[in-house]
Amino acid sequence: MTDIYLGLGSNLGDRHTVLLSAIELLIAQVGPLVAASSFIETEPWGFESEHRFMNAVVHMRTELSPHELLTATQAIERQLGRTSKSQGGRYADRPIDIDILLYGDEKIDEPDLVVPHPLMHERDFVMRPLKEVLRCKKDHTI
Ligand code: AMP
Repeated sequence: MTDIYLGLGSNLGDRHTVLLSAIELLIAQVGPLVAASSFIETEPWGFESEHRFMNAVVHMRTELSPHELLTATQAIERQLGRTSKSQGGRYADRPIDIDILLYGDEKIDEPDLVVPHPLMHERDFVMRPLKEVLRCKKDHTI
């Protein structure tokens, strides 16, 4: 089992319910939940929108490989009504976004998967909840 940290965000629909549904589907399809952060409300990052985000970070454990995990998180995004991916670096409103922040200690740099997530340190809406779930793991450096 590998420890993973996932960033969740929603800015369309009933955001709280969407995040809870995402966590339920992740538990069913990815592995057990170790800890979940508070849900925080944040401004859209990288694009203009009147819809604020609800963000959270979850710490889970999984038997899936990194690419199996990406396939699973993308399937869950579609199950929760996400119809399109961001293209050419453009961001848009979305019912759910799931980012793989950390996968154990692995460093992955492939065309479709970069871990640790390259933009996470710049994003307060990721780092605040991530620090919350890492609080008890004093040996972890980010
Ligand atoms: P998104 O921001 O959800 O629209 O993701 C766009 C693309 O980012 C996806 O097609 C993934 O293949 C790619 N990607 C690269 N690294 C990651 C990561 N760490 N977590 C999630 N998606 C990733």
